[in-house]
Amino acid sequence: MNRHRVLNPANEQVVSVVKETTAHEVDAAVRRAAKAQQSWAATAPADRARLLLRFAAAVDENIEELARLEVLEAGHPIGNARWEAGNVRDLLDYAAGGAERLTGLQIPVPAGIDVTFHEPMGVIGVIAPWNFPMPIAAWGAAPALAAGNAVLLKPAEMTPLTAIRLAQIGREAGLPEGLFQTLPGSGRITGTALVGHPGVAKIVFTGSTQVGKHIMAACAQQLKRVTLELGGKNPNIVFADADIEAAAAAAPMSFLDNSGQDCCARSLILVQRSVHDRFLELLAPAVESVVVGDPADEKTQMGPLISAAHLETVRAYLEGDTRAAIEGSAPDGPGFWFRPTVLVGLDADAPLVREEIFGPVAVVLPFEDESDAVRLANSSRYGLSGSVWTRDVGRALRVARGVRAGNLSVNSHSSVRYWTPFGGFKESGLGRELGPDALLAFTETKNVFISTEG
Ligand code: NAP
Ligand code: MG
Repeated sequence: MNRHRVLNPANEQVVSVVKETTAHEVDAAVRRAAKAQQSWAATAPADRARLLLRFAAAVDENIEELARLEVLEAGHPIGNARWEAGNVRDLLDYAAGGAERLTGLQIPVPAGIDVTFHEPMGVIGVIAPWNFPMPIAAWGAAPALAAGNAVLLKPAEMTPLTAIRLAQIGREAGLPEGLFQTLPGSGRITGTALVGHPGVAKIVFTGSTQVGKHIMAACAQQLKRVTLELGGKNPNIVFADADIEAAAAAAPMSFLDNSGQDCCARSLILVQRSVHDRFLELLAPAVESVVVGDPADEKTQMGPLISAAHLETVRAYLEGDTRAAIEGSAPDGPGFWFRPTVLVGLDADAPLVREEIFGPVAVVLPFEDESDAVRLANSSRYGLSGSVWTRDVGRALRVARGVRAGNLSVNSHSSVRYWTPFGGFKESGLGRELGPDALLAFTETKNVFISTEG
């Protein structure tokens, strides 16, 4: 039997030891889920909604406990962790309202009537990463449940604790046995068993592009449905006509939030050449003043990286003669700490410019004009998010429409709201989550024709 030690990334202490779910246990979980799903799908939509609202209320009552678990296992600053637990509540609230609004169409046809239904798929497998364990689990689970499905959640091996607690809270709130289960374990054992199980109708995967491609290929064997939320290398485009002070003030947390372990991190900062130096002058004190330290401290803005291995990966990008133009601070001693780092003067094809670092590292590159900015932004294999800073409304819209990515923001860095759609172009993913159509991704459309002849 495999056991995994969950470490606190801020001090390397063991927080908990969690048993891995074996392939045999995954099979048993799928059977329980399939049974629960049948009665769940037959439950009146208003009653499904009521139970999900109760689940949301129970999450709300346990926000502090969930947030503390997130601090311990993921090293997120406590303020962020509270927001993340609150996000689970909000996702459940929002999805609950969808259960009664899954309306189909009535399509004019001769000799009868034609209607469409959004049928639940069955058992949904949600595979979550370690960077936002709670929100990403709920992005999949909440709409899937509301649409009448059962959910099996496989959290990342490093961050299983909030996921385990969420499934317990769901049961305490009255969700039927088997409907929402958490299956902790590694991707190799538990994840593979879930993806390969013929009783699982769809996989919602969030993680690396590399593993996402592997999962898509594995799902193809059974033509299993799949939604993929993968990596990003997201441009923050600052034009000379922008409010440069505001752009520089907002830039640090756009790539330092969650220590840069964010698929939407704006880690590729493109600045129009005429304001490049001025922008850097303003950026330096803003980066240097970010509070990096104990995640349990209310004042902390940035915590550690998730693991020793990930710290090594990030560090390796900065080996050789790469010199930081701006550096923030980080604690010494135990924990997987990395200083906020900004680099300038790199070639557009350098790995630091092209690859997702997933750490607190940004690159600043100059550009000449609008078309140059769009060309640089689009030279990535990714297409998840991006920001445009300008006072020219026409330019803001042209550039936002021109960047091949799923989530753009103008004069801000927001990407993710539970009530607006989210997802990637190109190698950043497949399908969309969140937003008004979130439930539809967990249904199959069925068309029924009823003859009125004879
Ligand atoms: P990862 O290796 O792709 O893991 C993500 C999840 O998949 C984990 O639960 C992992 O389990 C599981 N997994 C790994 N191999 C699997 C397999 N063969 N079959 C089934 N499941 C498998 O990602 P990571 O390295 O932990 O996370 C960092 C990456 O995720 C970054 O590159 C980032 O771009 C990406 N990411 C993207 C988004 C987004 O929304 N687009 C969000 C977060 C992260 P174990 O942890 O147990 O191995
Ligand atoms: Mg991995």
